[in-house]
Amino acid sequence: MNSSSQKIFRVLPSVSRLLETAEMAAAVARSGHEPVKRAIRSRLDELRKELAQDSESATAWIASADFLTEFCRQVEHTLSAQERPELQPVFNLTGTIIHTNLGRARLPQSALDAVARVGGEACNLEFDLGAGQRGDRDSHLEALICELTGAEAATVVNNNAAAVLLVANSLAADREVLISRGELVEIGGSFRIPDVMRSAHCELREVGTTNRTHLKDYRAALGPRSGLIMKVHTSNYEIKGFTAEVDERELADLAREHGLAFVSDLGSGNLMDLRKFGLPHEPTVMEAFESGADLVTFSGDKLLGGPQAGIIAGRRDLVTRVKQNPLKRALRVDKLCIAALIEVLSLYRDPERARREVPFLRDLSRPLSDIKTSAVTVAAALDQALGSRVTVTHGPCQSQIGSGALPLDLLDSVAIYLTPETERGETDARLQALARAFRELPKPVVGRINDGRLIFDLRCLQDAESFIEQLQALDIPQ
Ligand SMILES: *Cc1c(COP(=O)(O)O)cnc(C)c1O
Repeated sequence: MNSSSQKIFRVLPSVSRLLETAEMAAAVARSGHEPVKRAIRSRLDELRKELAQDSESATAWIASADFLTEFCRQVEHTLSAQERPELQPVFNLTGTIIHTNLGRARLPQSALDAVARVGGEACNLEFDLGAGQRGDRDSHLEALICELTGAEAATVVNNNAAAVLLVANSLAADREVLISRGELVEIGGSFRIPDVMRSAHCELREVGTTNRTHLKDYRAALGPRSGLIMKVHTSNYEIKGFTAEVDERELADLAREHGLAFVSDLGSGNLMDLRKFGLPHEPTVMEAFESGADLVTFSGDKLLGGPQAGIIAGRRDLVTRVKQNPLKRALRVDKLCIAALIEVLSLYRDPERARREVPFLRDLSRPLSDIKTSAVTVAAALDQALGSRVTVTHGPCQSQIGSGALPLDLLDSVAIYLTPETERGETDARLQALARAFRELPKPVVGRINDGRLIFDLRCLQDAESFIEQLQALDIPQ
């Protein structure tokens, strides 16, 4: 640094002088000495850059009467941005009930209480309180999963992708896994059956064709290197037209004939018949066992409505092999997940209670009349908050379940449609600014943009009151 620029930098107030101002003293009391010092330093660094670029105007600004107040305001701004929690609750008004990017299932209150209860305390996670000895973390969940699904044994891992990986590696490492060509699914980008099989050190043996696979194709594919027959539930797409797939019962019999296990990856893993909610039939975990599956894998946070987890349930000898795999340790779940999953599964003992208390099931079964009533109130509040430059209407829309489940089956719902008034050519910018303003609210609101409108599907808005309350903080660019 040469001496003239050093001189320029001397016009800046020092950190210690700034810390002595009344504004910063208040900030120190609130945020602590070190964070405030860091924020002051970082703002001073920016000013130094401005000075180096345009010394005259920056020097004039620093000498001006407003400088100190403005400087303190900027530091406060930096501090409050830092203090905002990185993970924030949001209003999911996207119309996708189980939204992977928005954290999938919301937990029921009993699960939240359980997480709080064991999170801050030591607990008997792997300790048998009766015997006073080391216990097994799966023991807390296993009986419950077996009771609800009819399985003999069960274990839980990080997510269903991990469950599929672990099962394939435990039962068929260095051997072939037979899967129909029509079931080589990709789920959300990085989970692709062929890649998972490779990572599991299994050889994928594709059976049949994309649209039609017959029992004789499986039979022809069987050989000395076969390790497993797997059925993957094609949860996020449907093959229509000239199609054929093999009945699970027959696949199970074929596997048994050859001394192999038959594994069914259900993906969503519902414990309830969705026809109760006016939806088409999705195979339940119980039905997969009835059709002869030896092991079933499914997600904890899709149609089950619980925490992120992958559940592996079925024949005891197979579950034991899975649990003995060293990979199990790398994929296991923690006490918070176990605590939450126990509570969610417990609710399913009484299906009526599950329907009332599991937020996903509540969203799914919410009466249309209820959503409509809410839409009228919310639309009126939005109309008032947004002024004349945004047109607010409400009307029918369709929600989807999300996370790949029943992609073609939509639920009737009601949405708010926000259309910003636009001059030619600026439609998109205004719409994006409007959407951003809602995302900048204390509890960010996430909708979707379609056809020149910002759309809020109200199916998942259970708390309209707090949604309306925070509209006063809405900062719409004019
Ligand atoms: C969703 C899904 C998975 C992956 O489950 P995650 O819980 O997201 O890891 C695997 N298989 C199928 C069929 C699925 O639908």
